[in-house]
Amino acid sequence: MAFKIIEGCVNCWACEPLCPSQAIFQAAPHFLIDVNKCTECDGDYSDAQCASICPIEGVILDGVGLMVNPPGSLTGIPPERMEAAMAEIQAR
Ligand code: SF4
Ligand code: SF4
Repeated sequence: MAFKIIEGCVNCWACEPLCPSQAIFQAAPHFLIDVNKCTECDGDYSDAQCASICPIEGVILDGVGLMVNPPGSLTGIPPERMEAAMAEIQAR
């Protein structure tokens, strides 16, 4: 099993140097994880280093495809509140 970086990654480089398996690499349009190298940090760390540093919600998926940092988990803003605020801003 391997973690995955998806669309939304802002290419900030934060995760790349932390990976104990050198599984993260720069690609276009965003960073990717080599499925053959990612160990899910097993044996090295108790939590996935890439997901623990990533500042963007929802762009790293775990081995079963779930967001490690789902919407609201880093900002503390409930997703429905964020949606309402964005709708209000766009309506201006
Ligand atoms: S889960 Fe761990 S091994 Fe896999 S890409 Fe992230 S930091 Fe690297
Ligand atoms: S830390 Fe997150 S946003 Fe930054 S490069 Fe890695 S996956 Fe992309």
